[in-house]
Amino acid sequence: MRRWLIAGAVVVAVLVVLGLAPYRNRSSGCLFCGANRYESWWFGLKAADWVTQTECSRWIRGIYPEHSSHRWSMRSVMIKGWGLGRTFGCGTYAGGTEAIHHFRSELGEERTRDLLTRYHSALQGDPDSFKRFLRSEFAAALTNGLARGESIPREP
Ligand SMILES: [Zn+2]
Repeated sequence: MRRWLIAGAVVVAVLVVLGLAPYRNRSSGCLFCGANRYESWWFGLKAADWVTQTECSRWIRGIYPEHSSHRWSMRSVMIKGWGLGRTFGCGTYAGGTEAIHHFRSELGEERTRDLLTRYHSALQGDPDSFKRFLRSEFAAALTNGLARGESIPREP
């Protein structure tokens, strides 16, 4: 009986230490294809790192089957130190691929491919010019493409 009490106390102590232990979780998205990545660190050691495909990333993989060097951009991060406190910070993920994928039926195949090519071309440049591209040229091209894509006649 005494052994079971000691074993139970050890298990509870380990669970309490693990509950109070520092950890960090980060989720990211690939700027090129829109795949998701989840990473987790416990005690400073990487405990998890996996990539999940999305409908968008599967679509991109069909166009660029050779794509394997993801360009990760942080979506969110959660950092916890020892104890009960937590810190949460949001990332700056700005993947235009998902927007293009989302509106591809409205844009049509030609405009979708054109915008995707321009987006991927801008992604190859330096980060600052890519951000400028997203804020101005990409946003305008997407908006204009959607406006021109209105092929369904409106009801009078
Ligand atoms: Zn990717």
